[in-house]
Amino acid sequence: MNIRTKLTLRYTAVTALVFTLFAVAVYLFSEQNRENEFFRTLKKEGVTKLHLFVEGSIDVEILQSIYRSNREFIHEVEVAVFDMDFNLLYHDAQDIDIVQETPEMLENIRRSGLLEFYEGKYHAVGFVYSIGKQEFIVTAAAYDGHGYAQQRMLAILLIGLWLAGILIIIPSGYFFARSALSPVAKIVEEVEHISDFNPNVRLIVKDKRDELGVLAETFNEMLNRLEKSFDSQKTFVSNISHELRTPLAAMIAELELALRYEHTSQEYTEIMENVLNDARRMERLSKGLLDLARAGYDRAEITKEEVRLDETLLNARETVIKNNKNFTVELIFDTETDDDRQITVFGNEYLLRTAFVNLIENNCKFSPDKTSIVSISFANGNSVIRFSDNGIGISPDEIDKIYTPFYRGENREQAQGYGIGLALVNRILLLHKGEIAVQSNKGEGTTFVVSIPHV
Ligand code: ADP
Repeated sequence: MNIRTKLTLRYTAVTALVFTLFAVAVYLFSEQNRENEFFRTLKKEGVTKLHLFVEGSIDVEILQSIYRSNREFIHEVEVAVFDMDFNLLYHDAQDIDIVQETPEMLENIRRSGLLEFYEGKYHAVGFVYSIGKQEFIVTAAAYDGHGYAQQRMLAILLIGLWLAGILIIIPSGYFFARSALSPVAKIVEEVEHISDFNPNVRLIVKDKRDELGVLAETFNEMLNRLEKSFDSQKTFVSNISHELRTPLAAMIAELELALRYEHTSQEYTEIMENVLNDARRMERLSKGLLDLARAGYDRAEITKEEVRLDETLLNARETVIKNNKNFTVELIFDTETDDDRQITVFGNEYLLRTAFVNLIENNCKFSPDKTSIVSISFANGNSVIRFSDNGIGISPDEIDKIYTPFYRGENREQAQGYGIGLALVNRILLLHKGEIAVQSNKGEGTTFVVSIPHV
């Protein structure tokens, strides 16, 4: 069942319930009123006839014949009068005798003063009434034909109104639900048209303040994020293919050259060395890409443990020097700490080492003295590591771009690379809730400051 039908049904059900309660309340109130009114009328009729009888202004037989003749056309009240010793003084029609007065009943009326009751379908009252010093017990009974007919009319009217109300409510409920939900249907239609081919299409936000406006805006923001992520994936893949093609093309050219004609063993050695160099470049690139992919995992997916940063830095230096014999790495653990926890972080040792290796290699690559100066300290709950060099520096307008995958600065001629080092460092630090900042002056040197929350 769709929301529109559900809303219509609920709206109709609630309205029908309210209508029903309303109609029942009106009917019951009217019924109560009718009953009270009729008992009052009976009493009044009883009193009038008592007066006529006692005062003798109308003959008893005439009084009785009026009752009989009226009875044929209207629901005439039948009255009986007793003295306080229960002797019958007057009766409209003893043969009809609606109220069968027993001594117990009369005793009851005398004690309570007024009794209202039913005799089959007839209403009846019994009461004590005094004229001058003399007291009488009077009973009066009749059928409230007029009142019941009015109640029947009222019931028919209420049922009719109830049905008419429901017949109006169902289509109007359906119409309101449809108009309230039509923006949703429109959103669905618009979303169906967004595809790979037109990912920059966005939903139209009519009113930012209503719920559907917020929904459309949230959806647009999600589309923006997705588009950005698709774009960066596309660039990433094309960059990878480009980077792989260069060494592969060089290797193919070298090997074709080798096959074309006979070479001296010296020449073959040279060709093989060149091919080996290209293969090593490719191996470095694929390792970098693998690391980048690993660092792209969800925080929850990478295994973490307590990592001592001084030890990780020593390992990173060892790796750098093993790969680049001419690089120098100076480690300065200048801040004496009694508490090892200030230089211990909760993280992944392999990824942190990879980040440090990249920063140290950058220092060495981009400085003539091929030296990286690394110092470790702590501040405000963070372990802080500085990677400095006295190298060629980065121009200020490039500072924001250096963390973009495959971005290489204008100083790229100075050193080999693929532009994925700092992107990788950035991701690794994100996974460790850490931060990176850079201070650089062209021609003077560069310092990368890394801070990671310690345990
Ligand atoms: P790669 O080193 O492979 O070029 P990175 O992502 O590591 O890629 O660095 C991106 C760019 O940032 C580099 O091309 C370079 O221009 C600049 N850069 C990074 N570190 C330094 C540094 N220590 N000194 C000067 N420039 C740097």
